Amino acid sequence: MNKILVTGGAGYIGSHTVVELQQNGFEVIIVDNLSNSLIEVLDNIHSITGIKPHFEQFDLADPRLTADFFTRHTDLSGIIHFAAYKAVGESMEKPLGYYRNNLMSLINLLEGMKLHGINNIVFSSSCTVYGQPDELPVTENAPFKPAFSAYGNTKQMCEDILKFTVNAHPVKAIALRYFNPIGAHPSALIGELPLGIPNNLVPYITQTGIGKREYLRVFGNDYPTPDGTAIRDYIHVVDLAQAHVVALRRLIEGRSKTNPEVFNLGTGNGFSVMQIIEAFERVSGLKLNYRIVDRRAGDIEQVWADTGYANNELGWKAERTLDEMMASAWRWEMALEGR
Ligand code: UDP
Repeated sequence: MNKILVTGGAGYIGSHTVVELQQNGFEVIIVDNLSNSLIEVLDNIHSITGIKPHFEQFDLADPRLTADFFTRHTDLSGIIHFAAYKAVGESMEKPLGYYRNNLMSLINLLEGMKLHGINNIVFSSSCTVYGQPDELPVTENAPFKPAFSAYGNTKQMCEDILKFTVNAHPVKAIALRYFNPIGAHPSALIGELPLGIPNNLVPYITQTGIGKREYLRVFGNDYPTPDGTAIRDYIHVVDLAQAHVVALRRLIEGRSKTNPEVFNLGTGNGFSVMQIIEAFERVSGLKLNYRIVDRRAGDIEQVWADTGYANNELGWKAERTLDEMMASAWRWEMALEGR
């Protein structure tokens, strides 16, 4: 059985990917420092799959701890690296913390791979590397634009680290550029767990719907889009998780066309903030309380993916609809509140 290290496996996308990996016969080892996740997630993964993943709690930015991990796990077939800080606003207040954590953890992993002959890594990247692209839909060949945030810059820098490392060492990498992952597992046992006030649109909407927040602030309705609100490519987290299994198999079976290889993970459809609100109202039967406020600093106006390369080459396609995404997010919110 292929043994896979999933860093950040207790987190939002990580936990959904662990479930898909286990259901596809992979043995999973999770490393997570639980800085933005809860230990209970492991039990919930167990409830879904019947398998409790092996778990180690430590910080991958620590070179000694990471080196020690690799001396104890020399038989890994690959790594999926999710563990990273991800809050755009926070990254502007604590840029050094973001660079230290996001860059050092990748470097420490690559050192371990080099030393122990572990060849395959799937890296969590983001469409934020494109900034506001000149052409839509955006393809993988679009250039990196100057980053809007330290967070976005760490994703660009990590992709660069991979690019040069795979030239010098026998490492094969796939970078997956996520668009906007939303929704939750159909079991409602795992989902997004924002600590404190959510930054992202959908958790904010569901928390407003359930009464934890008074109203949603819609950041700007004067964008050059049909309804004036900003447009993103929202993708169901389960579709996204499944793409990781496909990418990992591609690496293990040596089918990559380039190294590193890069794929956009989106649906190819753009939806505005207002359309997301409408979808929420449709699936929940509620009226959402919201107010239009100023644009949020650093937001781009619109982005959606060209999914051609992922669909044709990876042989993967996002299948779940916007209403399925919003319904699963709402079920998850209700489950969190015990309803
Ligand atoms: N957004 C909003 N109100 C919120 C949170 C987000 O209007 O409370 C908008 C945001 O301006 C963007 C979209 O929703 O246009 C998605 O934002 P999110 O933070 O979820 O993801 P991002 O695309 O910024 O990574």
